[in-house]
Amino acid sequence: SKNAIIIGSGIAGLATAIRLKAKNYDVSVFEANDSPGGKLSRLESNGYTFDAGPSLFTLPSLVDELFEISGEKPDENFKYYKKNIHCQYYFDDGTKFTAWDDQDKFIDEITEVFKINAKSVLEYLDKSKRKYELTSPLFLERSLHKVNSFLNFKTLKAIASAKNLDLFDTLDEVNRHHFKDPRLVQLFNRYATYNGSSPYKTPGIMSMIPHLEFNVGTFYPEGGMYSITDSLYALAKKKGVKFQFNSPVERIICKEGLAKGIKTQNQEYNADLVVSNMDIVPTYRKLIPDQKAPEKTLSQERSSSALIFYWGIKDQFPELDLHNIFFSGNYKKEFTDIFDHKKVPDDPTIYINITSKEDPDHAPEGCENWFVMVNVPPNSGQNWEEMISITKRKVISRLNKFLDTDIEKLIETEEMLTPITIESKTSSYMGALYGAGSNDRNAAFLRHPNFSNKIKNLYFCGGSVHPGGGIPLCLQSAKIVSSLVEK
Ligand code: FAD
Repeated sequence: SKNAIIIGSGIAGLATAIRLKAKNYDVSVFEANDSPGGKLSRLESNGYTFDAGPSLFTLPSLVDELFEISGEKPDENFKYYKKNIHCQYYFDDGTKFTAWDDQDKFIDEITEVFKINAKSVLEYLDKSKRKYELTSPLFLERSLHKVNSFLNFKTLKAIASAKNLDLFDTLDEVNRHHFKDPRLVQLFNRYATYNGSSPYKTPGIMSMIPHLEFNVGTFYPEGGMYSITDSLYALAKKKGVKFQFNSPVERIICKEGLAKGIKTQNQEYNADLVVSNMDIVPTYRKLIPDQKAPEKTLSQERSSSALIFYWGIKDQFPELDLHNIFFSGNYKKEFTDIFDHKKVPDDPTIYINITSKEDPDHAPEGCENWFVMVNVPPNSGQNWEEMISITKRKVISRLNKFLDTDIEKLIETEEMLTPITIESKTSSYMGALYGAGSNDRNAAFLRHPNFSNKIKNLYFCGGSVHPGGGIPLCLQSAKIVSSLVEK
């Protein structure tokens, strides 16, 4: 059988390996780190366990599918459940809001807290669903860049502009047209951050994202997000995928327009096809430096990055849930700071993820594992050290106010992740969380395709290429690569 080499074992690399294995390829994965998962990894510190990167899990069926195509039962190998609360919201004016999964409860709460009528909310969610259903099969589930009998790139662009998809207004405009209450606008503007963009720039089509949360649900994998990596890695190994850790790939070997294999520090390996799960920018710059790079694509603005404090907290906060948001008072300024001034916001929105709410053994008894994150610009050489210490003080003082406590005294262990360490740990260009950002209305068309049109048998998967970042889209990229290989 033919053999495939995959560079990187991020979620998309793992999924591609499983899919190609299911097609009878001999698959070898080369990973620079000593363990799989890339951004979807785990961190241990003084008796606390943290999910290092992604914390919100939507569309679990895309993970299940990998077990199904491999002839395994998903529910025996990967367990997750639906959350009854999507998120706890704290607004700057003291408003608290619980986003329940149960629709009746959700409507009761939202109408009570924001004095809005139920119809208006349901209408918004319904529109969100329609946008998702219209665009997903076209934009997220296939390669935009291959002409086929009835659809091509131009047709897609025509559809995108013709239909009522809110491509020409910003997400903020769409939300302001729909909701009068600035708190609700802020709540629904936050979905721009799910792909690392600004609600004041990203197109209104992003208002399809709440559909996934409110109509489909948010989920929690038993054991934490790392269980996704863990179970997919176990599946891949069981099916015979070979892994080489501590093996950074240094070159993709190309001859006469054909990918022939890869080179690590010590050795060359031949392959019938090569898939890079490395960020597309360093893939061009480092692995195929002799090939002409698509400069316009590579120069697209990057998505936001993050500053994360992993705190072991020696107390418990029953008012908090798995996902908690503490909104800034001036959302617009927050995004101007991030994307225009390229600095950590003066007054950042704070996100806290606490997996010990679901898995008590992630923290010592009576304690909680706090993953405290603020959105920041990708790294362009800012003075991070200074911004981090200022931000830490601000975050602590705001949380003290919101929760009426003295957090600093409760922190018994601290780890950190910054744009610089995100880049050094996973090779993500500038430490961006989601590859290229979506501030540009044409972002969907500007992402790099899942194949090379210059080098045959070279493919790309992961958050920096089509259809974009985040676990569900990374899983879609693997699916697209596998279907392109088939052709
Ligand atoms: P990555 O995870 O980037 O992994 C790439 C892998 O390739 C790494 O293991 C790296 O070591 C390896 N590699 C790179 N170069 C080489 C080389 N030359 N040789 C060998 N190996 C190499 N998404 C969500 O869905 N929900 C969330 O809540 C969410 N929150 C996030 C929070 C944070 C802090 C971060 C960082 C990300 C978040 N994301 C979230 C985004 C999500 O994590 C990513 O989109 C996704 O995990 C990216 O997967 P990937 O397959 O592109 O590869």
